[in-house]
Amino acid sequence: MGGEFSLIAKYFSPAAPEGFLGVGDDCAMLPLRPGRQWVTSTDLLLQGRHFAADANPQHLGHKALAVNISDLAAMGARPEACLLGLALPKLDENWLQAFSKGFLQYAAQTGCALVGGDTTRSNGGIQISVTVLGTVPAGQALRRNAAQAGDDIWVSGHLGGAHLAWQLSAGAWPEWHARLPEVQAALEQPMPPWQLAQDLIQWAHAGLDISDGLLQDLSHVLQASACGAQLQYAQLPKHPALAGLPAGIQYECVLAGGEVYQLCFMAPRAHRDAIAALGVQQGVPLARVGEITAQSSLLVLDEDGSPIRLPKGGYDHFSSETP
Ligand code: ADP
Ligand code: MG
Repeated sequence: MGGEFSLIAKYFSPAAPEGFLGVGDDCAMLPLRPGRQWVTSTDLLLQGRHFAADANPQHLGHKALAVNISDLAAMGARPEACLLGLALPKLDENWLQAFSKGFLQYAAQTGCALVGGDTTRSNGGIQISVTVLGTVPAGQALRRNAAQAGDDIWVSGHLGGAHLAWQLSAGAWPEWHARLPEVQAALEQPMPPWQLAQDLIQWAHAGLDISDGLLQDLSHVLQASACGAQLQYAQLPKHPALAGLPAGIQYECVLAGGEVYQLCFMAPRAHRDAIAALGVQQGVPLARVGEITAQSSLLVLDEDGSPIRLPKGGYDHFSSETP
């Protein structure tokens, strides 16, 4: 791409942290972290599928990194570095300026240094690929396969806001369109609890981030850990903008809504107070929403303790509507 080097120098060359080699050479270099393991993940965001052509570029920069930071948080890892692949149909300086601002501000906030990437001309829409690297004390990553019967199930933040925003933006539920401004930030600027996650490794057995919807994501843990779960619908932390919406819409948003980028984790009862205190200390809402069971079923109970009847096949078909 013409002007590629000046463009990288202008927008994507933050100073590298002590001991790192950042943008500018053929490869970046990272220091070894004694006693820790590297944890890494990649996410791809495509125009037309994950975001619209006119999406706010600063929010998009934030989100492209945040969805990856969320994966690190899910493992209890500390963000260390990231790489950014960008395919752009044209050189739009206003777009680049805003995108890099959103990306680099969040990178600075989370201590996740941008150390390299690739920039090229796209013959379609905008494509964004972010790779993150984090570290975790050796052997202590929060995996999906270690939930145990009797564990409490916890959820951070609020559920359903991003899905409501996605649906309202797509024209669904027009009688509720006025709620869109209340939920737009939940969709465009997710704030995964990356700091809290690093402290959770001392208390939690297992965890993951909620990207495809609570029930679908939780079912991955249940499968990997060979157990089941009972959730109390009343305890699930619902986005305030869902208040007063029809029950069917609320169920869909809360149980199946994707793009949440908050944590669902499982921890022994004995650590209830310590976990609640951690949430208060870090200013992250934490809700205890149910329990891991030995039977392999996943039940959602209403306030009388009777199972809520979920649509046939669960909510999988809904969650595929969010990207
Ligand atoms: P190469 O030709 O060796 O692939 P490039 O010319 O593509 O290197 O990139 C030059 C330098 O700029 C490299 O250090 C690369 O990691 C970095 N870089 C390229 N694009 C980006 C980007 N979008 N964000 C951050 N660093 C980038
Ligand atoms: Mg290159």
